[in-house]
Amino acid sequence: MKRRAFLRDTAGLLGASLAPSLPGVAPQQPGSPPGRKPNIVLIVADDLGYANMGSQGLKDIPTPHIDSLAKNGVRFTNAYVSCPVCSPTRAGLMTGRYQQRFGHEFNPGPAEQADGNFGLPLSEVTLADRLKTLGYSTGAVGKWHLGYRPEFHPQKRGFDEFFGFLGGAHPYFTAGSGNPILRGVEPVEEKEYLTEAFAREAGSFLDRRKNSPFFLYLAFNAVHAPMQAPERQLARFATLADPQRRTYAGMLGALDDAVGLVLAKLRQAGLEQNTLILFVSDNGGPTRVTTSRNDPLDGYKGQVLEGGIRVPFLMQWRGRLPAGRVYDRPVIALDIHPTVVAAAGGTLPANLDGVNLLPHVTGDQQDEPHQALYWRFGAQYAIRQGDWKLAKIAEEPPRLYNLARDIGESKDLAAVHPDKLRELEAAYSTWNRQLAAPRWGRPDRRGQPRLQQGVQKRARELE
Ligand code: CA
Repeated sequence: MKRRAFLRDTAGLLGASLAPSLPGVAPQQPGSPPGRKPNIVLIVADDLGYANMGSQGLKDIPTPHIDSLAKNGVRFTNAYVSCPVCSPTRAGLMTGRYQQRFGHEFNPGPAEQADGNFGLPLSEVTLADRLKTLGYSTGAVGKWHLGYRPEFHPQKRGFDEFFGFLGGAHPYFTAGSGNPILRGVEPVEEKEYLTEAFAREAGSFLDRRKNSPFFLYLAFNAVHAPMQAPERQLARFATLADPQRRTYAGMLGALDDAVGLVLAKLRQAGLEQNTLILFVSDNGGPTRVTTSRNDPLDGYKGQVLEGGIRVPFLMQWRGRLPAGRVYDRPVIALDIHPTVVAAAGGTLPANLDGVNLLPHVTGDQQDEPHQALYWRFGAQYAIRQGDWKLAKIAEEPPRLYNLARDIGESKDLAAVHPDKLRELEAAYSTWNRQLAAPRWGRPDRRGQPRLQQGVQKRARELE
């Protein structure tokens, strides 16, 4: 049976296949009545590179709250996003589909320069749309970056509530900013450090919505530039000598505290057992700009090398998923949409590229979630098939890497394994033929669209 048909046919059975709870898993707590659909909390970090948490080897900045998700849930070591920059990745995340299928290939640039077409096409169904139809209350807090015009506003794309900003970047101290923070569609004056404000609003949403199934999409702009941290966090990291690293530590420290606040709220409400919590970054670190590290990976935000697209990804659901599991097979953020819909008891549509990861992480399903993963970002492209990866990142010929032996993409094997190179090229071409043309390009400095912007030698600060 074909994978999609299998998933479609089995999606409705998932709730049954996961019940009763795994051996050794505590029963549901008060506040989470039996039979209630799980709550969903999807936390997105911004520009948080692969190495940026204690559970992935970070030493100089503690991240205990983020790490607790790995300790109490599943940590993915081969998790990707579908683009090395912000907006396209979010389009894939929200739809469960490769965003190039509907022309959402590039960032738009700031609102005043963006192409008039920019916005997650209205033909696409978002994760919030689907959860609404399953009876969830839905809230978006933080960075949107999926359209500036009114028809693309979060509250037109399945969310009951929105607090945040529509663009791709925002200062953390917002007084005097010309890029408004919105509550719904109304600009508001925000006085708190933005990461703390988003945690406050997330807590408010949980307080108000905890009595029925909810979906909270919490998209921090931390740890994206600009480099701004609150004094209290800077004081924590006074021993870090490099001022850029110290500021970054303050930004990451604030993000980790914000995650801790959300987890504490869920715990206090007795909802932790019945809440599926996902944590993912939208792309790799722009290391020279922020110090966000990607090691041991090569490359940065904006590149289809591993450092641009392989990201931290954690999934906790204490009532259902094993604790402390490390999952090493390749997965992609496109999987979040179908995983969440399946957890909520919905039926998966046939046009998704992502797959439901729950049976894979419980061990019920042993095969690879994906035969191959693909990337196209202007002139750059890549495919991963098993341990092999083809990456075309510049004007030079495509490179071939074996990631099992060479996670840092240091040895180009194209000349050693020409047959494998041709095989991957052919598989990529088959996929590429299914894609649409980009609907917009990111404007250059003169405001002109740049559709062929693929080769990026420097990480961008503003997107
Ligand atoms: Ca980003």
